[in-house]
Amino acid sequence: MAVSSIAVPPDPKRDARAAALVSQVPTWPRHTLKVAWGSFEAGTTFRRATGSGGARYLVNAVACECPDYQQNGAICKHIRAYVLFEQEQARFDAEVDRVLGSAPKSRYEALFPACKDGCGDLADGLDGRCSKCASDAEWQARRDARAS
Ligand SMILES: [Zn+2]
Ligand SMILES: [Zn+2]
Repeated sequence: MAVSSIAVPPDPKRDARAAALVSQVPTWPRHTLKVAWGSFEAGTTFRRATGSGGARYLVNAVACECPDYQQNGAICKHIRAYVLFEQEQARFDAEVDRVLGSAPKSRYEALFPACKDGCGDLADGLDGRCSKCASDAEWQARRDARAS
C-alpha cells in the first residue's frame, strides 16, 4: 500500500538535486515490506534508491534511510524525487483517464486495441482492424459487391 505523502517544505538545493534524480526513480526497484518496519505496516511500498557511493536506501514519500534524512532530519533529495515522480505519474494517469474515460479494459488494451479479427495484431487500421485485415476486409467487400 502507498503511504500518503507529507508536506515537503521547499529547499532549493535539495529540490534541484531531486529534479535531477526524478528520471532515475523508475529504475529504483520496488520494495514491499513483508513485515512491519518501524511505524510502517507490512505491505507498505518503498523503492530502493542508489545513493552516491553506491549505498542503497529504502525510500518512499515520507521516509528515507539515507544519512541526510536519518541524521539531519531533512526531507532529503530521495524523498523529494520520489514525490515528484509520484506526482508526474498521477498527472499522467489523470491525463490517460481524461482521454479514455473510465475504460473497462486495462490501460494497455484501451491504448492499444487488438484487431477485431483476432489475428493478434494491433488495430492500427480501419474500423477496429489491423491494416492487413482491414485491406483483406475491403477486398472481400469489393468481391461480394461484384458477386451480387
Ligand atoms: Zn534520502
Ligand atoms: Zn488483423
